[in-house]
Amino acid sequence: MLVAVDDDAVALGDLERELRDRYERHYRVEALPSADEAYARFEELAVSGEEIALVLSGRGLSGAVGIPVLEAARRLHPQAKRGLVIAWGDWGKPAIGEAIFESMARGLIDHYMLRPSSPPDEAFHQEVSALLLGWAEARRSLPYMVHIVGESWSGRAYELRKALVSCALPHSFCLADSDEGRVLLGTAGDSQLPVVIFPNGRILTDPSNAEIALAAGSAVNPARIDYDLLIIGAGPAGLSAAVYGASEGFSTLVVDEGGVGGQATSSSMIRNYLGFPRGVSGRRLAQRAYDQAWIFGANFAFMQVATGLRREGDRLVVTLSDSGDVHARAVLLTMGATYRRVGVAELEALNGAGVFYGGPTSEAPAMAGRDVFVLGGANSAGQAAIYLARYAKTVTLVVRADSLAAGMSHYLVREIVLTPNVSVRLRTEIVGGGGAGALDHLVLRDNAHGTQETVEAGGLFLMIGAHPSTDWLPPEIERDERGFVRTGQNVTDVDPWPLARNRMFLETSMPAVFAAGDIRHGSVKRVASAVGEGSVAIQLLHDLFAADRRQPGGRPRRASG
Ligand SMILES: Cc1cc2nc3c(=O)[nH]c(=O)nc-3n(C[C@H](O)[C@H](O)[C@H](O)COP(=O)(O)OP(=O)(O)OC[C@H]3O[C@@H](n4cnc5c(N)ncnc54)[C@H](O)[C@@H]3O)c2cc1C
Repeated sequence: MLVAVDDDAVALGDLERELRDRYERHYRVEALPSADEAYARFEELAVSGEEIALVLSGRGLSGAVGIPVLEAARRLHPQAKRGLVIAWGDWGKPAIGEAIFESMARGLIDHYMLRPSSPPDEAFHQEVSALLLGWAEARRSLPYMVHIVGESWSGRAYELRKALVSCALPHSFCLADSDEGRVLLGTAGDSQLPVVIFPNGRILTDPSNAEIALAAGSAVNPARIDYDLLIIGAGPAGLSAAVYGASEGFSTLVVDEGGVGGQATSSSMIRNYLGFPRGVSGRRLAQRAYDQAWIFGANFAFMQVATGLRREGDRLVVTLSDSGDVHARAVLLTMGATYRRVGVAELEALNGAGVFYGGPTSEAPAMAGRDVFVLGGANSAGQAAIYLARYAKTVTLVVRADSLAAGMSHYLVREIVLTPNVSVRLRTEIVGGGGAGALDHLVLRDNAHGTQETVEAGGLFLMIGAHPSTDWLPPEIERDERGFVRTGQNVTDVDPWPLARNRMFLETSMPAVFAAGDIRHGSVKRVASAVGEGSVAIQLLHDLFAADRRQPGGRPRRASG
């Protein structure tokens, strides 16, 4: 259902007309002329279980509607998207600007939009469509969905969900003995669980991750191809390098042990990436970047772990887990980082059953009404807490440090303080926990007082930092004491540089091997900086090939087979 609320009759009429004209075939549309009627209707709908997809509330004449209505919608219908509708020019009024900023920071509204003008107002409908797409994604009701049916939320079913997340494939999960599970299993026949059902009707029973990549159409056999550039890691840095590399004529292969997006896929909402004023989910950003690179001719091989790197003559050779050796003139290391573990055996056993590493995007709706904990003190933990607060009853951020400011951006600290159902426990660690089949409690230790407390917990999200994925690299690639790859002037030159030319910025201690993004010593650990470094690496490649008196391999070539 779509709900429009405004006590300005003309403005409400405009909203109702636009919503009915475009969406009435698929959504019920209701127009409510006062805040009180909106509150009563939200209550009724919550009791009857009818879902609201979108609430648009105008500022109205009285000032009573608008944000308070959207706040009520959030409380009673947390899945509903909420847009504040303002008149043209209102954004320039300081009080309105501040109200919009505050309510976005507190998660009361998803975004603001201008009142529709005379039809057709495509700009208005673009805003509405973006909100409806966000709603459909969150409730897993996209047209092309992969369905997983399993016996339990944990174990192999959880690993498959993670594999699909890393392939940026929208998917849903249900238990075999649920109504939906029984219907889906009807189409799958007598299959061993878990079962994965693809939108094209293909059914895989307990597939390997590599089979998922193949079925998703994202695995390429690169065995016989020699590339200008081999990129290891399809996170933001690798994707950016793929876009620039392929678009500038280098034959480019990107390999990843998962799928696209890297850490960014676990970010529910990236709000500080240039050009996305209402934020963008890491998954969507990655999917778009992947499309962009693919259109320029980049090749991708997913679920392929790079396990070795060596030089053979004028080529670098990378060994892949499933495709053997691949040759390239230059290699870009963009392997980013992986999460540290919590180190509590009982909690490790519940991984996927209430205990999750990384961002809460896919699990958040299941946290509705629960007391949820987030462990970590960096930006990613702050974002996770804010996102979970939309669904969970309470969210507790557990932080070892004695202040949030030590590890988190100011804007996020502010959002946390302003979000009523988020609380923070400083100087605290998680030292135990458990549950029968699913997490139900945690043991917290207050380091300031030396006390321990057992608390009820319906979910735990672990965002406790990461270490670089560089263990497999050969010793020739110099790393710092934490394993991050040294580049450019940061290389200490324990081994003398073998070439007449200088080492380039982003070049490692091994000639023609570059590193970009989070994996790099001294990197900024942001999507924008990873993307920037990925593009800079391509400029360096031009310089490298020019120095080698060679030309790039001409038109981008797609790998065959
Ligand atoms: C939950 C969360 C929220 C975040 N929010 C923000 C935000 O709001 N704004 C912001 O700017 N930044 C944010 N970040 C940080 C941002 O996501 C990272 O800085 C960025 O993803 C780094 O990009 P990258 O390409 O360097 O590495 P990664 O994103 O880590 O990607 C590395 C890729 O390499 C692959 N790989 C690793 N080893 C191998 C191997 N041996 N073989 C093949 N493939 C391999 C991995 O599978 C992975 O896909 C967030 C991070 C997290 C976890």
